[in-house]
Order: sequence, then structure tokens, then C-alpha cells
Amino acid sequence: MKKVQTKTCDVAVIGGGPGGLPAAIRAARMGKKTILVERNSFLGGTAASGLGILGYLDRQGRKALGGIAQELIDRLTGYGGAIGHYPCPVHNSITPISPDWFKIVAVEMCREAGVEVLFNSELLDATIENGRVVCAEVYGKCTRTLIEAKVYIDGTGDGDLAYMAGARYMSGQDGTGIMQPCTLMFTVTNYNLEKFLDFAEQSPENFGIKEDYAKGYDPTFFRASRGHCFIGMDELIKKAKAKGDFHVPRNQFIHITTPVDGMLAINTSRIIEIDASDPYQLSKGLEEGYLQVRELMAFMNKYLPGFEQAQLAGISPLWACEKQGTLSA
Ligand SMILES: Cc1cc2nc3c(=O)[nH]c(=O)nc-3n(C[C@H](O)[C@H](O)[C@H](O)COP(=O)(O)OP(=O)(O)OC[C@H]3O[C@@H](n4cnc5c(N)ncnc54)[C@H](O)[C@@H]3O)c2cc1C
Repeated sequence: MKKVQTKTCDVAVIGGGPGGLPAAIRAARMGKKTILVERNSFLGGTAASGLGILGYLDRQGRKALGGIAQELIDRLTGYGGAIGHYPCPVHNSITPISPDWFKIVAVEMCREAGVEVLFNSELLDATIENGRVVCAEVYGKCTRTLIEAKVYIDGTGDGDLAYMAGARYMSGQDGTGIMQPCTLMFTVTNYNLEKFLDFAEQSPENFGIKEDYAKGYDPTFFRASRGHCFIGMDELIKKAKAKGDFHVPRNQFIHITTPVDGMLAINTSRIIEIDASDPYQLSKGLEEGYLQVRELMAFMNKYLPGFEQAQLAGISPLWACEKQGTLSA
């Protein structure tokens, strides 16, 4: 490797997702020299994948999140990149956000706070002395950067820094070790939501969540709520499966509204039983994800009322998956 550089700072944050980003902004606002390392060419992590953000409100519709998390939404709202918090009987609340405005707002807030962002740089190793991390080595574009900080924050979502530092961890579902499925998010345009909801109203068997707690999660709610996450179309998927037109290992269609009029985010792909901390399995899984998007577009066009003419608008540059976490499906 040709180039090696050393950087010193008070706080080094590895990973610029919903966890690491506010941590870096807060540290810099406190006057700490802060470096934020991000392996992608954008900040936001899974918040920049097209998923709406859940949980700004609690079950009773009361505000549950504030601080920098709310500041992000306020800024997004100012640019049209967010449209508010919408209560939901199933998800507590949905806050649709534009992944692209999120990337801009994240940079804006980092700049204002004085965070130095190092994009396209991935954690390579951690040096430990007396049980403490004393150096994080990151790599990007033929350059190794040795970051010497007083405090390190692991914002990788997967605990990569803790793992490199030799911390103990649990992985996957208790007993089986199976990881949470991965999802490749994509967006569509040119659909007719009214027609889709008319169909849903006429075929309640296509409603995915029938438990008591989901009372009110019905077409009236979806019509009234600009911000929602629809889960259902079980019978339609059964039909498509029987005809050999649906191989995604999922029984429900999920869409999430976005702040952009006429654009929906589709959260229906599902890649199961891969260990996303293994780059080879991750790559195979990602290939599978792209092919699932192809199949899901064909499914929508052929089976889903209102989506006959739907077009693929974009595929997320980041996919949602869990590596060393303990979540299970
Ligand atoms: C399948 C799935 C669906 C979900 N659906 C929703 C939903 O609809 N709504 C919701 O609110 N939440 C949802 N969640 C949960 C949500 O995604 C997480 O709670 C949230 O992303 C955690 O934030 P984070 O910053 O810890 O991690 P992440 O969002 O994963 O961010 C980690 C960041 O660190 C970077 N990074 C990782 N490793 C390295 C490294 N080695 N070096 C440098 N940078 C690195 C990544 O590029 C990324 O930017 C979902 C999660 C999954 C797995």
C-alpha cells in the first residue's frame, strides 16, 4: 500500500448511520475534534435506503424521539424531504423520508458542527493497548489512515469495531444462529394507489395483519394517512406462487409511502439464511436481491391491481441487513 497517513482527534466515530451520525454531530457540537468514517459515499446508513423511520411516536401517538433525531426531520421537512410523523396501529408511527435529502442534510449538519467526514473508508483493524482501542485503521482508495482518538464510537450497526477489538459477541437467532433476512429496497412510480386500495377493500383476505392490536389498519386508514406502510396481499401472492410467478421467500407485499408524490418504496424482497458478515455470502445474497427486484416488478405488473403499469424508479445503493446482531425473523 502506497500511502499511509495518521490523524488524531478527540472522538472517532466509525459508521455514519442513524446511530453514528448523531453521535458525531453531538461530539463536534461539544467542541470535540471529531472524525466520522463511512465506508459508503453517503451518510445515513439504513436511513438512506428508502425505509421510512419507525418509532418517532409511541403507541399512544406521543412523541418518543427528540434531539438530533428530530432536528434531522425538521431540516428534511424544510426541503420537502420529510412530511411528518404518521401514527400507525401496527408500527406505532411512520416517518417517510427521502433517502437523498437525508444524505444532503446529514452532510449539512456535519459541516455546521465541524465533523470531519471520511467517506469511502472502511475499518481495517483496531489496535488495543491495556484493553482500550488506541488506533483505528481505515482504508480507502489506496490509502491507509491511522486514526488515533481519545474516544471511539462504534456506529457500524454490526459492531465491526468491537469485533476488531476482540469483544465477545452473539450472532443470529438463539440456537440456530440464523440471521435476520436482508432486504433490497427499491422504488416504483406510475401506479394507482386508489385502485390498489379499492381492491384491498373488496378482498379483506388480502389483509396481512388481522390481530386485535392492528384494529384500524384498513383501507380507510391507508386512504387517510399519507404516511403509511402497507402489509398484505397474502392471497394474491399465494396465487402467484401457485403459478410459479413468485419465488421470493415471503408471503406478503409491503410498500411504504415516500415524501415524493407518486413514488412508493417497496420492502418486499427477502434474502434468507445468509451470513451477511461473510463478504462472499453477502455478494451472492445481493445478486439474489437484484433478481428478486426483477421478479417483483413482473409480479406487480401482472397481479397487483393498480400496479399494472408500475415502473422501477430506483434500487437502493444500500441494503438493509443485520450482520452480527441478535435479531431474528
Ligand atoms: C431488514 C431490516 C428492515 C428494517 N426496517 C426498518 C424500518 O422500516 N424502519 C426503521 O426505522 N428501522 C428499520 N430497521 C432498523 C434500522 O435499520 C436500524 O435500527 C438502524 O439502521 C440502526 O442504525 P445504525 O446506525 O446502528 O446502523 P446502520 O443503519 O446499519 O448504519 C451503519 C453505518 O455504518 C457504516 N459501516 C458499517 N460497517 C462499517 C465499517 N466497517 N467501516 C466504515 N463504515 C461502516 C455503514 O455503511 C452505515 O452507513 C430495519 C432493519 C433491518 C435489518
